[in-house]
Amino acid sequence: MDEERVTLPKFREDCLLTKGIDVRDLVGIRKEALLYVQPCTSERGKLMADIELTREIDSRFLDAEKLCSLLRVHRHRFADLRCSEALGVAKLRWGGRDISIFRNGKIKIQQAMDREEILRVANAVSRLIWAAAVCGVCGEPVINCASGNCGKCRLPEETAVDVSGILGSELLRQGHAELEGLAEQAPPDYESRLQRARFLALHFTMETPRKEDAVLGLLLLAKVDQVEAELKNR
Ligand SMILES: [Zn+2]
Ligand SMILES: [Zn+2]
Repeated sequence: MDEERVTLPKFREDCLLTKGIDVRDLVGIRKEALLYVQPCTSERGKLMADIELTREIDSRFLDAEKLCSLLRVHRHRFADLRCSEALGVAKLRWGGRDISIFRNGKIKIQQAMDREEILRVANAVSRLIWAAAVCGVCGEPVINCASGNCGKCRLPEETAVDVSGILGSELLRQGHAELEGLAEQAPPDYESRLQRARFLALHFTMETPRKEDAVLGLLLLAKVDQVEAELKNR
């Protein structure tokens, strides 16, 4: 495959964009504190699990407004989606599992087949909601770290990365392509392309195995917001 180098910003080591909120990482660090698996009461043979993305129970781990907007980007992949910004709770049905996400960083998964499936689903969900997680450095959702808007987490240095070998990078390429030539388009056309770019960016972030690569999806997501703001302000 041809090398394809892109220049990317760097972020502080302690920024949540660098650290990530991957459930697989968290399980490795503090297994028993994180994951409570038990049989489903409603369906025999199935499992349910509570996952805690943070130890501080009543913390504002997620920005509820951002959480709901991220889930709406992927709405058509879910059989059912309800999200309340006021309550800070989202409920969705995805691939036969019921999933609840709470602002305090709790995820509940019901009707799972086995422990490996719980981990896989939880990891995908943690990637999906990552941009809404509140960074400890700046106190803002991670998407504001990615865009540089928080003013604290993005460093002046840049780094060159070869993206050709990254799993799922085709989704990124398609996402970036959706942003080309939007200035000549009327609002109904560019809005659907912005949404498509957001969908692809988040899809990549959920699918690519390494969290260091997954950051690229959030950078694209931040870029879509920036492009949208420019189009609306012209
Ligand atoms: Zn940050
Ligand atoms: Zn920040």
